[in-house]
This record gives sequence, structure tokens and C-alpha cells, in this order.
Amino acid sequence: MLFRSGETVILDGTAGTVATRPSPAEIAGATERARRERRDTELLATLRTEPAVSKDDARITLLANVDLPDEAETAVGNGAEGVGLMRTEFLVVGRASMPDEDEQYEAYAKVVRAFGQRPVIIRTFDVGGDKLPIGGWPHEPNPFLGWRAIRMCLDQPDLFKTQLRALLRAAVLGDVRINLPLVVSVAEVRQARALIAEAAAELRGRGVPHRDDVPVGIMVETPAAAVLAGAIARDVAFFSIGTNDLVQYTLAVDRGNAALASRFTPLHPAVLRLIRMTREVADARGVAVSVCGEMASDPLMAFTLVGLGIRQLSVSPISLPRVKALIRGMRVAAAVEAAGAAMDAATADDAETILRAALHAEVDGELLHT
Ligand code: PEP
Ligand code: MG
Repeated sequence: MLFRSGETVILDGTAGTVATRPSPAEIAGATERARRERRDTELLATLRTEPAVSKDDARITLLANVDLPDEAETAVGNGAEGVGLMRTEFLVVGRASMPDEDEQYEAYAKVVRAFGQRPVIIRTFDVGGDKLPIGGWPHEPNPFLGWRAIRMCLDQPDLFKTQLRALLRAAVLGDVRINLPLVVSVAEVRQARALIAEAAAELRGRGVPHRDDVPVGIMVETPAAAVLAGAIARDVAFFSIGTNDLVQYTLAVDRGNAALASRFTPLHPAVLRLIRMTREVADARGVAVSVCGEMASDPLMAFTLVGLGIRQLSVSPISLPRVKALIRGMRVAAAVEAAGAAMDAATADDAETILRAALHAEVDGELLHT
């Protein structure tokens, strides 16, 4: 692309775009985005070492979602108290063959080392559905309901155990926890646990240092897992609520279909009830619970989640300061009241109206722009 000297262009490093001959409205929009980014950077500098404590003294734990090992340093720098979700699909998508145990170990070890003794929840392969298939993947008519995530791993124990051995080895370096995606039954958790035990035995046989007491939890991202949380709680150490998929499967709305975007409503009362239900079961059974879906990164949604009783949020590293600022500017009591009313609302729109009004009454409007 060639530019003339003095020409106005908009260079968006986040989106990776260059806009030539921008309209006044585009210039105004880009200027506003730049201002918010500067504000977030300033927030980051002032809040990095401050705890996420609400005005009425509730402590919220802020964790990071890490999609690539290289993001770990940024997450630590932004004040993450641990990793609530490390996705491992980067290791497999777009490749013709699976990564071996050592390659995987290095990737996990990098994140674990960056976080020292702070918790790092690593999710086993969630391939399929919206995550691109690996080479030779079978074509499926309905991949979102297909052979993906824990289903694929349980059906291919050698592939799964390679990942599990790498995770058990990385666990020696810090506080690793294993997270199983798309679980719909207790049987899946038990099968996975049996394979974890086999992986540990194999490492023992080889004389390789590892941990065999790594906590195991599940993504609560299907209605089945939320409804069965009580039964599953006996077999797991934590629940990680994945709202991206929980919304998709509860409302039967494809998360990637732009034509359905307005129907993808995380504040739908059915979704709010499932989250609250899961949190209540977790508290009653002494199982840790966090939310790691995109919902947690949005101020209105984070306010709602805290109102539903969630005390651990895992968000993208870049969203950490904004969510922390929100927590420090709000009262949990106000969120609890609004979320209670929203759960009883008839529609997602009504729930949103209730929550938005409560949030605006509670915090400085500047914090609410994303
Ligand atoms: C989720 O489903 O909410 C989630 C966090 O996982 P992913 O977006 O990777 O499916
Ligand atoms: Mg998911």
C-alpha cells in the first residue's frame, strides 16, 4: 500500500487494519478508541498491585485466560492472580500431526513458571466445533454436537495420555490443575481420571518426575453439567463455568453465527439460573467455582456474575485492569439485588434493563465503556 505524505490514515494495531481516507465519523471513533486504550493503560499502572476488593469489602479473585504461552508474561504483568483457563488448542490446530509429550511439556511449563506458585488451570484439548479441526479430522454434519473435546480425547486414549503426561510433568513446577471440556456426565470424569492415573503410572515406570495428585475439574459449559453439578461435584475439585458454550447450548444459538448474534444473550434468565445453580452447588460442596467465558470480561456481565455469587473471574489479560476497576467501584450488595431480580425477569431484555440500571446507578459511567 502506498501513501502520500500528509495523508490521513487510521492504523489499528489491535485489529491489524489500516483505513485510508477515513470519514470524520471514523476518525472520531478511532480517537475515542485510542483514548480508552490510554485510559486502560493508566488504570493498569495504578491498579496492578491493588487487590480486586469491592466497596463493601468483598474480595474477588481475578485470573487470566491464556490462549498462547507467550501471553503469560503479560497476564502476570497485568496483575493476574493465576490462570483460570489455559486453552491448549494452539498446539494442534492447523497441524498435520499431534505435538509430542516434550513439546507440550515445554508449552505448559512456560506458563506455569511465569506464575510461580499461583494456580494454573490447563484445559485438555477442546478440538472440534468452533475450534478448527486437525489434519484428517472427520467431516461432521453438526460439529458443535459432534465428536469433540473430552469425547475425542476419551476415544483416543494414547493421544489424551500424551497430553496428560505432559501436564503431570509440568505440575512439578507449580500449581497445575487439569480442566476437562464439554463434560456432560460423571462417567466422562471417571474415565478421564482413570487415564490420568494410567499416565502417572507410565511416568513412574519411566522414572520421570511428575505429580500424581493434580486437582481435576470440569468446564461447566453444557446444561447437562450445570443440572448435574451436584452429582459431578463428588468427583472434581473445581467447576469452571464456560459461558460461551453454556449460552450456545442452553439457547441453541450457534456462537459463531453472525446472523444470530442478537439472539446470543448471556443475560437470558435461563443462563443466569444455571450459573447461580452451579455456584450454589459448588459452595455447598466445597468445590471451587470460577467463570472463564467472555462474559466475565464485560463490565455489565462481570457485575452480573458477582451478583450471582461468583467470586473468581477469569478474563483476557487485556481486560484485567478494567474488570478490577469495576470491582473496586461497585458494591456486591447492589449486584446481588440486581442479579436476583434479573433471574426472575421474563426475558433477556428485561434482565438486561434491570442489570444495566443497577450498574449505572452504582459506578462511574466511564468505566462502562469497553
Ligand atoms: C467457554 O465455552 O465459555 C470457554 C471459555 O471455552 P471456549 O471459548 O474455548 O469454548
Ligand atoms: Mg467452551
